[in-house]
Amino acid sequence: MVKRFVVGELLTNCYVYADKKTNKAMIIDPAKRDSSIDFLIDAKGLDVVLIVDTHCHFDHVGGNGYFKEKYGAPLAVGYYDVNCLSRAHLEAKIFGMEVEQSPEPDILLNDGDTLSVGFSKFKVIHTPGHTQGSICLYEPTEKILFSGDTLFFESVGRWDLPGGDCRALMGSIKKLFELPDDVFVYPGHGEPTQIGHEKMYNPFVKKKPLYLLKVQRFKIAEAVGISTCQHHPHQPSFYPLSPFLLDRL
Ligand SMILES: [Zn+2]
Ligand SMILES: [Zn+2]
Repeated sequence: MVKRFVVGELLTNCYVYADKKTNKAMIIDPAKRDSSIDFLIDAKGLDVVLIVDTHCHFDHVGGNGYFKEKYGAPLAVGYYDVNCLSRAHLEAKIFGMEVEQSPEPDILLNDGDTLSVGFSKFKVIHTPGHTQGSICLYEPTEKILFSGDTLFFESVGRWDLPGGDCRALMGSIKKLFELPDDVFVYPGHGEPTQIGHEKMYNPFVKKKPLYLLKVQRFKIAEAVGISTCQHHPHQPSFYPLSPFLLDRL
């Protein structure tokens, strides 16, 4: 079971994943404390065994302390995002927001690690680019991927924030595109998608003539409202596409 909660000022997707057979559960990207998440956990009688941050930007970590204390579950983050985690509450202030300071992580995740939630086994895929230590979680039996801010519905994460790296991000997307087309993708913001859909329609990675990309970007810009994007760090942003991006995938 995957349940999505849209939490916080930046509309972060916080997910609760539960293994149906055992009721063991994992909270992914708890942006802040939220009673509707507690209500679900209570109502379904879930046993929270893990809290994972796909990366350590302030809009994904504000509930770490609250949920860790409430459910006694260990906190896991990408190995290369540890410093980012300790600064997150300070970076929130720069954006004029209040975010609770996160506790230290209990588990540092590396590429290829496996996280067990009941009978489900999530493979950790290190996907740097949005941040150095960004990770995605892939469950091959259920064919689901939690992609954090690396891959969005017809978009990709920003690479221009501290720790961001465009080339690394494109390499990470390429890695994700090796997954089967029918894998469901649950991103850190916005609607779910599928790997196959993104291979076909993601304008940031699709090899298309530049004029078509411009048209496509304009259409998406119209749909989501460009004025919102300019003030929202995680909405699809309309960077000029470099020849590098066009040739990369
Ligand atoms: Zn982010
Ligand atoms: Zn985010």
